[in-house]
Amino acid sequence: MERDVKKLHPCFGSLPNTGRIHLPVCQRCNIQCNFCDRKINDYEKRPGVTASILEPGEAIAILEEALKICPEITVAGIAGPGDTLASDHAVETFKLIKNTHPHLLRCMSTNGLLLNERAQELIDVGIDSLTVTVNAVAPEILEKIVSGIVYHGTYIRGTKAAELLIFNQLEGIKKMAAAGTAIKVNTVLINEINKEHIKEVARTVKAAGASMYNIIPLIPQYKFRHLKEPGCGDIDGARREAGEYIDVFRHCQRCRADAVGIPGVLDVAGQLYKGKIKIR
Ligand code: SF4
Ligand code: SF4
Repeated sequence: MERDVKKLHPCFGSLPNTGRIHLPVCQRCNIQCNFCDRKINDYEKRPGVTASILEPGEAIAILEEALKICPEITVAGIAGPGDTLASDHAVETFKLIKNTHPHLLRCMSTNGLLLNERAQELIDVGIDSLTVTVNAVAPEILEKIVSGIVYHGTYIRGTKAAELLIFNQLEGIKKMAAAGTAIKVNTVLINEINKEHIKEVARTVKAAGASMYNIIPLIPQYKFRHLKEPGCGDIDGARREAGEYIDVFRHCQRCRADAVGIPGVLDVAGQLYKGKIKIR
């Protein structure tokens, strides 16, 4: 049965005061984005950072405690810190959540490299909402953002890697959308690379079945640390252009991979993980 994601999910325009928990069960990634710097710490507030990595069973224990501290949580999500399909940990965790807390929306983020081939597993485990990060739909642009992918054990670079990634993202989105999953697409806005391309991404992902679009300004790190962080004018302009094609989400808090609480309102991660942080 399809559930009302718009009403229950804070990132799809829910009623006020609904919360989410990100369970950090996925450490590995299968692509390399030139802006990504994954870290284990308890102080940086940005995606790709978590205070610890949990096993699926541990995630259920944390979820139970989180619901006691923050009963407003309606969404159990997995957003890294690596990719959710690069291992089986996310799917295993969702199977457990489906049994133990079936009322929570099951939400997942992925880079989409394996979405095309693993879509049926996600449909079977009942993913209600899915976020796919699509930073370009033209290989010659994407290859400037993603330096390589590991696909079925082979490292691939350049245009070939970008073509494969885009193909699998769009085919995967089509399959998930056809099954009734609510799809949000995130794009990292990089002024120097994809600013003029946002319209095309929005148009393409909408046609594939996405219903919501989220533009995240670049946090300049790793190989892109010399680039400029987009300003409010850049973000507004990109949102306006994308809004011609698709609903645009405007309240992204660029949450950590272990975020817990009501986005932008209440953060209980510190309270939840106090004394339990394990750096592996
Ligand atoms: Fe980092 Fe996500 Fe890109 Fe993987 S897909 S390199 S975790 S930003
Ligand atoms: Fe929502 Fe942004 Fe946090 Fe994801 S990172 S849960 S989109 S606020």
